[in-house]
Amino acid sequence: MSKKAYHETMIRKILRLELHWQILIAILFGWVVGKILAGEVGTYGLMIFWSLERAGIDFSYFPSLGAKLIGIFDFIGTLFLNALRMIVIPLIVSSIIAGVGNISSRKTLGRMGGYTFFYYMFTSFLAILVGLVAVNIISPGMMNGVKMSHLLGLEDLAPAQVKSIESADLTGMVDVLLKMLPPNIIGAAYEGQFLGIITFSLLFGYGLGRLKSPYRKSLLSFWQGSYDIIMNITHIIIAFAPIGVFALIVKISATTGYEVIKPLIFFFLTVVLALAVHFFVTLPLILKFIARVNPIKHYVAMAPAVMTAFSTSSSSAALPVTIECVEEKAGVSNSVTSFVLPLGATINMDGTALYECVAAMFIAQVYGLELGFAQQFIIAFTALVTSIGVAGVPSASLVAIAVILGTVGLPLEGIGIILAVDRVLDMMRTSVNIFGDSCGAVVVAKLQGEKGILV
Ligand code: ASP
Repeated sequence: MSKKAYHETMIRKILRLELHWQILIAILFGWVVGKILAGEVGTYGLMIFWSLERAGIDFSYFPSLGAKLIGIFDFIGTLFLNALRMIVIPLIVSSIIAGVGNISSRKTLGRMGGYTFFYYMFTSFLAILVGLVAVNIISPGMMNGVKMSHLLGLEDLAPAQVKSIESADLTGMVDVLLKMLPPNIIGAAYEGQFLGIITFSLLFGYGLGRLKSPYRKSLLSFWQGSYDIIMNITHIIIAFAPIGVFALIVKISATTGYEVIKPLIFFFLTVVLALAVHFFVTLPLILKFIARVNPIKHYVAMAPAVMTAFSTSSSSAALPVTIECVEEKAGVSNSVTSFVLPLGATINMDGTALYECVAAMFIAQVYGLELGFAQQFIIAFTALVTSIGVAGVPSASLVAIAVILGTVGLPLEGIGIILAVDRVLDMMRTSVNIFGDSCGAVVVAKLQGEKGILV
């Protein structure tokens, strides 16, 4: 077979692969291409590039050309992200209004709302617990029992500051409640404050459900039709996911050096370990014993959504793909997904809650503070509440961590320490966030008596 024919066959084979394989290939390939463009591959001596270098290819030539290509990939990645973000507000509004409007009985709506709320709070609490245990056992902020502040070039805390940490209170809660009822719904949409949009859509859907015919029927078909249109647009965008993901990963890989991780290696590993426990142990156990479904099948069904979350670092941007996977691949009904998932993408962030806790505790450890039960409780509670309030966008946790640090009186400069590794950890916690939502949809659907899920 000629070289050209061979390449054509390979491309055709890749195009025929299932979407999750295509995205996985895009992630791996994107990471390697990013490293090549950044001219880093030679340094790390990856076998394959070592042989290429030996064959006479000079990688030192790449950085200048690399910068230009990275710019192009950045542009393609941004296009993909914009396309996903463009449909998020219409998707949240139409799916919640159509979903809630369709549930005519108050009892069914109340029961589904109850299950959803309980599941979300319970799993976020479990995630926080895992994070707290990990950070207390590993103590990533201490090096051989000594605080790391000097190692990281930070000033010591003034005694007054240390004292004020003891008198912290709970302010995060008020902020979340205010976000739930925004004075201006268009303003909330403009600022990406999804919590307000969700409250309004829930109320609108509830009001629609109580309308008399003929209005109820015609308005319901309007909102259901709008939702179907948005899902059709979603299908088109998802078809471009492998290209978009590839471009996003090239940019991330080219701009993330491994050196930044070195001083923060224990913090990084603590977060990864805790996220892994939640993703591979806690959530599958809930699927197995509460929803009574096969967790492996659920991982397979959710793979495209998890990988989209991984490469976009945004629960909201991944929402269209999450809905598609939970409905089409896991077999959950539209009435459950349209209620549980948009809500989950905003208020249920297990990975984020866990990360906030570990980060705040790490910063405290770095400054040499031993926080007792009361302080840890405040951190955990604020993490739970702020994880409800933060938007599903990249690096949103940093704002929440600032709130937590402010609440317990730790210096905000602490955030500067974790910035270097935030991006990669964001990719991981966002994947956990949307996987948690999808498990919620399955659990609620099963508790509602739905059949044919993940069979
Ligand atoms: N990027 C996360 C998300 O969209 C939020 C965060 O933890 O920063 O779910």
